[in-house]
Formats: sequence, structure tokens, C-alpha cells
Amino acid sequence: MPSFIFITGGVMSSLGKGIAASCIGALLRARNFSIRMKKLDPYINIDPGTMSPNKHGEVFVMEDGCEADLDFGHYERFTDTTCSAGDSITTGKIYEKVIAKERRGDYLGSDIQIVPHITNEIKYFITRECNNVDFTICEIGGTVGDIESFPFTESIRQLSLELGKEKIICIHLTYLPFVKTAGELKTKPTQHSVKQLQSVGVQPDILLCRSEIEIPDDIKEKMAMFCNVKKENVITALDAENIYLIPHQYHKEHLDKRIYEHFKIPVEDERSIDEKISSKWGRLTKLIRNPSKMIKIAVIGKYTKLQDAYISLTQAIMHGGFANDVRVEIDWVNADDDHSTIVKRLAKVGGVIIPGGFSVRGTDGKLEAIKFARENAIPFLGICLGMQLAVIEACRNVAGIHSATSREFSNEGEMVVDLMESWDNSGETKIRESSENKGGTMRLGKHDCLLTHGSKAKKIYNGADMVSERHRHRFEISLQSWGSVLEKAGIMVSGVSRDGRRVEIIERNDHPFFIATQSHPEFESRPFAPHPLFSSFIESILQSKKEID
Ligand code: GLN
Repeated sequence: MPSFIFITGGVMSSLGKGIAASCIGALLRARNFSIRMKKLDPYINIDPGTMSPNKHGEVFVMEDGCEADLDFGHYERFTDTTCSAGDSITTGKIYEKVIAKERRGDYLGSDIQIVPHITNEIKYFITRECNNVDFTICEIGGTVGDIESFPFTESIRQLSLELGKEKIICIHLTYLPFVKTAGELKTKPTQHSVKQLQSVGVQPDILLCRSEIEIPDDIKEKMAMFCNVKKENVITALDAENIYLIPHQYHKEHLDKRIYEHFKIPVEDERSIDEKISSKWGRLTKLIRNPSKMIKIAVIGKYTKLQDAYISLTQAIMHGGFANDVRVEIDWVNADDDHSTIVKRLAKVGGVIIPGGFSVRGTDGKLEAIKFARENAIPFLGICLGMQLAVIEACRNVAGIHSATSREFSNEGEMVVDLMESWDNSGETKIRESSENKGGTMRLGKHDCLLTHGSKAKKIYNGADMVSERHRHRFEISLQSWGSVLEKAGIMVSGVSRDGRRVEIIERNDHPFFIATQSHPEFESRPFAPHPLFSSFIESILQSKKEID
């Protein structure tokens, strides 16, 4: 059985529990411990797949196709591990399981209750499939005291009793507001949220305190006393200008050391660990603070009000910047703006990205942006919907098929982008219907793509014959039906699905960098292994010499 690290959140949401859990994972990985990252989300949805990106942020897609909370993206990027469907649980999934068991008759004779039936299922989820790792890091979504989170905190309490306190550590991420008029950091909200935790029988071992200023010693002492925590376990989590500076920052605050102390893990090689963490994470400090150049790109999307809606994309762009030693500024262009505003903004950037998206709203603005990038030789990267629109734009404006469209937008016109037969490789061919269930029915997860000999895409992917990328889409382009039209539209198909039937990557030979892919390469990018499509896109902008001062 591994040791368990629980991360709870107090005072308010958006304090960055996901980042905190990821940074703890990164620090344990730096000491070569094996870890597993899990998240318990209190919402009743089965998964976030049907939630609005404008409210809940991006849906992260795992290798196995699980549609998960965006925090899984942070886990994978910071800890360089791969998560899977079993690592993500929601209240909805727990209830679904318990109700299925009840219907099957597994609990015959009992009335089903939160304790023990729901909590047993939660504990099973927390402890399953982790015998081969040293630590399981488990983030509890939401804020302590929320009506939905009780079964989760109750499960932590039960586990502490069952496994013994020496196998479990509870880290409570909290917030100390700085009241300017009083010139003071306030501890009362933290005291209250710790009381909430204590009232359900959970005593935090470490308080990780978000603060905009250094926390003075007397405030730490006060919190330690009121919250029943050792003073050295009250740790400052200062606001950071960039999330990749946080692992090093936590290490300097001795967060990892306190965790090892709790579990009585001897730390003999402290100097060499210090050096390892400084050289790995500290190295990013230079790239973040003093890049040699700056460029600006535009992302044209529909969910531009909430940055979390494109979090993996933002990260992949940043990683591509690291690879080229440049800072990339993003101009978030609202696809619903009028065309002249969009074009004016695009004239000022070095490159254009059309990210993934859903439904017809905003597609006119995106098509206009693609046309502008194509005609003005501006480096262009299209992702998922971005590729479908790049194909529609070329069919309409280059090949002269004016009614070219996608089944997602209309039932009239030439369906260049359409529903195709089933992709489940079960051997059974089934035409999918627009009316089928929306949740969990897309082409999800890793799918292979064969790269075309002589294409730029193949070169970018280091000459590989085949690559595997994560997908999340319902509509697609049939190579058989549209291959010759695409050629007429000046498009080279540079990647196809393994069965040769679906267009996976396209590019234009009459353009310095015009590549679009049906997959979501942003989900695979890591700070220390930037995705080649993003680094080469940024490199092409540098070659076009459009830097900003
Ligand atoms: N809406 C498109 C589809 O379902 C594209 C999806 C996406 O961009 N992720 O095929």
C-alpha cells in the first residue's frame, strides 16, 4: 500500500489545488519516488465532457479517452506521468456505480446510505490500482464545507483510521487575504475552514497558505496554534508570476521536507536533491524571466473570456516558446467579433491558431481568420475544429465549392466534414447519428496517424512513419470522398488514420507554415518536452522575423 497525500481546499475556489498537487508530485518525482495522481470531483456529472468550457474550463483528454477535469493536464505536465480513466472520479460516477450494484442485488436486504455505501466506493477508488507506487496524491475538488464534499472528507477520516495516520498526510491549501487598509494578512478565513475540516474529523497536517506577501512568523505561529498544526508546517505559497516557478518555490519553503518528516522518510542526500530541483525547475526561471525574444500570436476562439478554457493550449504554446527561447504573448481574439476587427488584430501578430471548438457560432470569424492567414503567408496552426474549418475555407475559397460545410453546422450544402461510420474497430460498421447521446460518444483518446512521405508534418515529427495523438471530435473528413477536392484546394493530406479513411493532418505547400490537425497535440506537450508542432510553429514565426519589442 502506498502512502496517501490528500489535498483539500479552504476559504474559496481557484486557489490552485491542482497546481499544488502537481508541484508536490513534481518534487516527489525529483527524488525518484513513483507516484499516482488522482482527483475526486464533487459534481454530479459523470465527467466534465458536457460542461461549458466558459464555466468549467477545458476538458482534458487522457490517453485512454477519459474526458477529465483540466487539473489532470497539470498533473501530467508537472509530473511527467500519464493518468488514466481510473484516476478521475466524480460524485456522479460513484452514485452510478452504487446504483448499478443496488439494481444487481449486490446489497440485498440493506438500505443504501452515504456511510458506508458511498464512502466505501470512494475509499475503493482512492486505494485501487496503486500498490505499485510509493505515493498516491489525491486532490479533493471543491472547497471544504461545500454540501457535495462531505462524503469525500468523511472517506479521508475513515481511511486515516483504517490505514493509520502514518500512512496519510492531509495538506490544506488555504488563502490569507491581505487587507491593505489594515496592512495585515488575515487568518480568520483559514481558521474557519480548518474548523470545518476538524468538524468532520479531519485534522490537516500541513497548511499551504496562498498569500500575496511573505507570511510573518507571528502570523504563522498564530495559525499553528489555532489550527492545531506544527509551526514549521505552516508554509507560504506566494503568488507566482508563472506556474512553472512553483515547484522550486515550494522546495525552498521545505514543503517536500515536511512531507518526508511526516512519513519518517530519511533525507540524507539533501544537497544533491537541492541541486537536482534547482537545475531542473530553476532552469525554467531564465526562460520565463529573460527570454531572448518576444513574439505575439492570435488565438481565435469562442471561450476567450475564461483563460482556463484553453489551458492546455496556452501551456503548449508556452512550452513551444521555451523550446525557442522566446516569450509568446497571446492575443485572445473573440471569434464573434466583426470581421474587420478580427483582421485588424491579425495584422499585428506573427502567427494564428484556431483551436478546438463546438457548434456553428463563431465559425464565420474563424473562417475569415484562416483566409487572412492563408492569403498573407502568416504561420497558421489549426487544431481539431481548426483543421475542419481550414478544409472548409479552402474548399469554398480555393476549390470554388461555395456550399462546403460541416454536418455540425447545417444539414444543407456539401458535407465536407461529416459523421462517418463507427471507429471502435469492433468490426461492426455503424453509421453514427447526430441524435445519439452527447456524453462520452466522441472519437476520444489516442489514435494512430500515418504520416505522408515528403510532408512537412513528417519532418516535424522527426521523420516518424506513425504517431499517436489524443482526439476529441465527432465529425471528420473522409479521404476517399474528399481527397481529390482537397488536392484541388491546394491542400496536401500529410497524415491519415491507420485505416487510411480519415484525414488526420493537412498542410499547404504554397505557404511558409500552414498545418492543421484533427487531433489535440496540446494534451501531449510538457514543459521539458514541448510538442514538436508547437515548437515548429513558433520557430516558423521567428523565421518570418515578426518579433515584438
Ligand atoms: N466540433 C468538432 C467535432 O466534434 C471539433 C471538435 C473539437 O474541436 N474538439 O468534430
